Amino acid sequence: MFTLKQPSMIIFGNKSAQNYSLPENSLVITSGGAKSRGWLDYIGLKNMNIFDSVESNPSLTTVEKILDKFKSNEYSAIVGIGGGSSLDVAKFVAFKMKKRKFLIPTTFGSGSEVTRISVLKVNGKKQSFHNDALFADVAIVDSHFIQNSSTEVIKNSAIDACAQSTEGYDSKSGNIYTKFMCEQAFDLLEDGILNKNPENIVLGSLYAGLGFGNCSTTLGHALSYVFSNEGISHGHALAFTTTVAHKFNKSKFYTRFKSLVEQFDFNSIYLKQNLSDAANLIQQDRKHLDNNPKNVSNVDIVNLLTIINNENVF
Ligand SMILES: [Zn+2]
Repeated sequence: MFTLKQPSMIIFGNKSAQNYSLPENSLVITSGGAKSRGWLDYIGLKNMNIFDSVESNPSLTTVEKILDKFKSNEYSAIVGIGGGSSLDVAKFVAFKMKKRKFLIPTTFGSGSEVTRISVLKVNGKKQSFHNDALFADVAIVDSHFIQNSSTEVIKNSAIDACAQSTEGYDSKSGNIYTKFMCEQAFDLLEDGILNKNPENIVLGSLYAGLGFGNCSTTLGHALSYVFSNEGISHGHALAFTTTVAHKFNKSKFYTRFKSLVEQFDFNSIYLKQNLSDAANLIQQDRKHLDNNPKNVSNVDIVNLLTIINNENVF
């Protein structure tokens, strides 16, 4: 037996966000570049209120700031537009305000628009919150946004989708549907990256979200958060943490994933904090580790972090 969950409406296609009539008097939650990149004009929202200061790797404090700042107003809905950080904040705010959620990704990798997960920092440490009330009411996936994305943004988000789909495929909490979606996702992403076909990256990212969102990511994500706590971006950390995790797990995706990381030419990363302290913190992340196909000890984690720090990943 298994259960599948996803937003009640998913709209996919080039210009779909431009063609959709979003509710007037919405509260828009996004990051600093939304206006200068022309996103707000593009989606054509009328009478909107805006919070446009979502930071990358956002914290629960940002959610509290928004709730405090906008508490006295009545909004028809919350519109989250941007990368995974903006969507994670938007869905958590909407959940707290009990408002409808419209989520529009402008980068393609987090899958946040179709998952029940919001990742936020609490006391400086990344935590993932899981709740059915975090699902979007409407997710609008518009490949138009990838056309103006920088190579840096595309590679960081695409490798996240690659990590999510392959870790999701291997997850012990998976089922026939998640395996199907995750494998399809990775095939599309790999083709999109190698053959420079952005439409396939957008669709692959959506499939990855639907796949891993109905199971979980695993060791690669668990290892990545300590790097993010030191300011490394999510995708950049995963390029290395998921590679070593796939090798450790003997994942069937190890070689293909590693080739994509090499193709993107990520700079190596280094964890500054004491590695056994990091291992203790990582061990608390049971949501990811309990679903990992292999048991992971503290010694294993220190070994994997050492491989990354010594640039011995490949
Ligand atoms: Zn991720």
